[in-house]
Amino acid sequence: MKYDRIYNFSAGPATMPVEVLEEIAAEVLNYKGSGMGVMEMSHRSKVFQTIVDEAEADLRELMGIPDNYKVLFIQGGATLEFAMIPMNLMKNGVADYIVTGNWSKKAYSEAKKYGKINLIATSEDRNYSYIPDVSDLPISEDADYVYICENETIHGTTYSKLPNTKGKPLVSDQSSMFLSRPCNVADYGVIYGGVQKNIGPAGLAIVIIREDLIRSDLDPKVPTYCRFDTHADNGSMYNTPNCWAIYVCGKVFKYLKKIGGLEEMERMNIEKAKVLYDFLDSSKLFYGTVDKADRSVMNVPFITGDKEKDAAVVAASKAAGFENLKGHKSVGGLRASIYNAMPKEGVEALVNFLKEYEANN
Ligand SMILES: *Cc1c(COP(=O)(O)O)cnc(C)c1O
Repeated sequence: MKYDRIYNFSAGPATMPVEVLEEIAAEVLNYKGSGMGVMEMSHRSKVFQTIVDEAEADLRELMGIPDNYKVLFIQGGATLEFAMIPMNLMKNGVADYIVTGNWSKKAYSEAKKYGKINLIATSEDRNYSYIPDVSDLPISEDADYVYICENETIHGTTYSKLPNTKGKPLVSDQSSMFLSRPCNVADYGVIYGGVQKNIGPAGLAIVIIREDLIRSDLDPKVPTYCRFDTHADNGSMYNTPNCWAIYVCGKVFKYLKKIGGLEEMERMNIEKAKVLYDFLDSSKLFYGTVDKADRSVMNVPFITGDKEKDAAVVAASKAAGFENLKGHKSVGGLRASIYNAMPKEGVEALVNFLKEYEANN
């Protein structure tokens, strides 16, 4: 492949579009005649303000974000949001959580520090290999919000239908599915995610929040940085933002617009995932760990059912030039993260490798 790149199936930070990397490389020493690179420029400069404004405008266009939602660029990754969400959204001090894997479990544990958190559904009984029925949950009368992780990166599940929150705002961690398909933002109170899975470099979370959920009457002990109103009132520039990550994400937004937007991205992602799932469904050696209806289009965990065999396949895949296929320890086996930037050829090459491995072993 060009530049001696390999197929990188990392769950995050993850592979990025070559075209975007080339553009960035060309601008690293001198951004559009400014005489300096984006890493070196003041976040208060006009040229950087244009970068932020365009990034936000392009994201709004891609996702069709309504005017009554704010887009915030915040540091601390998705993990800081596990705390910021309850700190900012809990008025009654009550929230309902659905736990479908490691990431929602972490968010649930963190939220417990800040109020009464009800676990209203979980798939823990079968090691998070499915999404529970969320059509009629015991939503708490006084819940300030209902929380989900919409795509569990480690367990490889996705909601095919959003939960019925009975009027409560839905908060969704979309870290590992951000911009992988069209999304009706109005269905949510808050959508957020770290960008290093499906968009850009690590160190940035994007928070899309309905304006009426941004409060100014918070406990004064909430750190200034951890208040959504701090970021909303200062255009995400209360302090120095992650300028570099915002710039690179902005490039990816333009790239996605150019290739046809999120409808086209979804079409490509489904086609790509099908190549791998079809193989797993026909294989006698490998099988997917998730119930078919709840399978993620982004993260595909699969196993042989034998730990030693799994380890041997991972080692062989590495030798064959496929990186980061080792599954997370809580699922074992293998996991292929096939985000937006993974080309279909990469998945086809992986399937050819697995087929050959199966034939020879
Ligand atoms: C990776 C990931 C996180 C954690 O992201 P950080 O940016 O490392 O804090 C949270 N949620 C999901 C779904 C993830 O995939």
